[in-house]
Amino acid sequence: MRRSLLKASQSQWLREHAPRYGFMRRTVTRFMPGENVEDALAAAQTLASNGIGTVLTHLGENITDRAEAQEVTKHYLDVLDRIRAANLPAEVSVKLTQLGLDLDNEFCYSNLVALIELTPAEKTLWIDIEQSPYVDVTLQLYRRARKAYANVGVCVQAYLFRTEKDLDALISIGASVRLVKGAYNEPAEIAFPLKRDVDENYLHLAQRLLSPESRKMRVRAAMATHDRALIKKIVEWSASQGIAKTNLEFQMLYGIQRAEQIRLAREGYRCNVLISYGSFWFPWFMRRLAERPANVIFLARNFFSS
Ligand SMILES: Cc1cc2nc3c(=O)[nH]c(=O)nc-3n(C[C@H](O)[C@H](O)[C@H](O)COP(=O)(O)OP(=O)(O)OC[C@H]3O[C@@H](n4cnc5c(N)ncnc54)[C@H](O)[C@@H]3O)c2cc1C
Repeated sequence: MRRSLLKASQSQWLREHAPRYGFMRRTVTRFMPGENVEDALAAAQTLASNGIGTVLTHLGENITDRAEAQEVTKHYLDVLDRIRAANLPAEVSVKLTQLGLDLDNEFCYSNLVALIELTPAEKTLWIDIEQSPYVDVTLQLYRRARKAYANVGVCVQAYLFRTEKDLDALISIGASVRLVKGAYNEPAEIAFPLKRDVDENYLHLAQRLLSPESRKMRVRAAMATHDRALIKKIVEWSASQGIAKTNLEFQMLYGIQRAEQIRLAREGYRCNVLISYGSFWFPWFMRRLAERPANVIFLARNFFSS
């Protein structure tokens, strides 16, 4: 089912037609506070009152029109201004294919730089990681940006065999890294096909990210997972290494494991929630369905109650 849903996420026809259905829209609201940036900012405010920070992302990917990529960049510049004006503990995360990566690397890089320059020095402008054909170029552009700016971070995926090596290179430059399991459909030649192997690799990579060497390089390590068993192992291992709670950061998606988000923040860990918003939600929503079979049942319930 995971593979079918991920395949569906790439269907042009479904992207155009599925969002029209009420039962789809109703299910999506579980994972996003609304389509407008105002909805995301209001949710960020509420989370902030619980000691939880946020990362905002405007849904969209694989933009093939220059003007549209410029519009997206302008939108994010405005969001950065609004975050600053509202004094919110919020950051921004972007997909490079949203900033024109499919059109021209230099054009994409200049859009990225504009966003990094408006991000305050003490915060991070995050770069999402997309399907495997984009990994090399994303890390290349990331390294280039990191040479010039300290306040930029990148995501890496534990399901890819290559990530351990990528992580070593990122640690050596004192990168900011968000570790995820990985959300796309990748072939067995390059990614662990079994979930238990991905989980095991995640723990191994998390320990690398929290190692004395990483800490010496002042790596910002964000553990982006909702997996409570894994979180427990990371928490216990970190305590055994004498890592302070305030140096341990977890990130989760809006609407998933809310109680765990609050618990972590109350216990003194850094906790950030990624809030997605925008009207181009179909492929992103399909990836959320693929992550958990129960979400499909939830969607089916909304279909039959409509
Ligand atoms: C902050 C953040 C940023 C991310 N950025 C990227 C990125 O840039 N690139 C990328 O490839 N992936 C990204 N992801 C997605 C990630 O790769 C996984 O697909 C996703 O987080 C599910 O994996 P998991 O670690 O939560 O573990 P899983 O083992 O999949 O889930 C553990 C438990 O969490 C709960 N859960 C997980 N997903 C869902 C869901 N969709 N709905 C309801 N409950 C759920 C369930 O209880 C499940 O049993 C990001 C995830 C987060 C949290």
